[in-house]
Amino acid sequence: MTQSANASRPAVLVTGAAAGIGRAIAARFARQGWTVGLYDIDAAAVRTTAAEIGGHTITGAFDVTDPTGWDTALREFTDATGRLDLLVNNAGILYSGAFGDIPLPRHHRLIDVNIKGVLNGCHAALPHLLRTPGSQVVNLASASALYGQPGLATYGATKAAVRSLTEALDLEWRHHGIRVTDLLPLFVATDMMTEVSKGSKSAATLGVHLTPDDIAQAVWHTANQRRAWSGPHVLVGLQTKLTA
Ligand code: NAD
Repeated sequence: MTQSANASRPAVLVTGAAAGIGRAIAARFARQGWTVGLYDIDAAAVRTTAAEIGGHTITGAFDVTDPTGWDTALREFTDATGRLDLLVNNAGILYSGAFGDIPLPRHHRLIDVNIKGVLNGCHAALPHLLRTPGSQVVNLASASALYGQPGLATYGATKAAVRSLTEALDLEWRHHGIRVTDLLPLFVATDMMTEVSKGSKSAATLGVHLTPDDIAQAVWHTANQRRAWSGPHVLVGLQTKLTA
């Protein structure tokens, strides 16, 4: 659904935009006057979210594990906007618990959504990013990419893969003028955090609670290069409490 778009306005596509961090990122860019594509697996929720945040929005529903869904979404979005300044690969899932207690299909689903979802997005978006000068990708990894945590083994492994993919693509696409960054947040107060608290004592006892708006702010600063460039990884949490 297109509410309004205009090729003179910068355009961002956010996955997992119906709730949590994705919703906050979409709202932040909408407030700044960007055209925002809100995409989520939950069609009804993403429409409601777009209506609530207002601004210039485009919505659609697809599963990030589906390459055809990506192609359709990107075609419809760029047909409406004429550009793709920023792709935010935010959609992600988490199952926590003892490794052996989590059924194998859930481990596989984590890999599909959290790794293949990001990979599919980067692959499908590349032609559109190449056509938009100064374009960027921001991937939501996690501080879990940096160290193994009991209860979050496969989740952490998927985020380590996103971190590695980000670093490689940032190097590979730099000569095209495309910047690729990941965010490595500590724990953010969303529905996902509730799941973490259930399954990982070490996660819960870390007790660091960012808000979705903190992450939206970090994406905004990253996209606008207000931070000193320190490489493709942005740790959000302990030392980084950004101000507007
Ligand atoms: P959330 O569960 O609150 O929201 C995730 C959104 O993604 C939901 O709207 C959901 O419908 C959508 N989604 C799930 N699977 C999808 C799929 N296959 N295709 C399309 N959309 C899908 O999660 P959140 O806490 O907002 O997390 C967002 C991102 O940030 C995730 O990648 C997560 O791993 C990462 N992250 C979260 C935290 C945290 O503490 N919450 C910390 C670090 C990183």
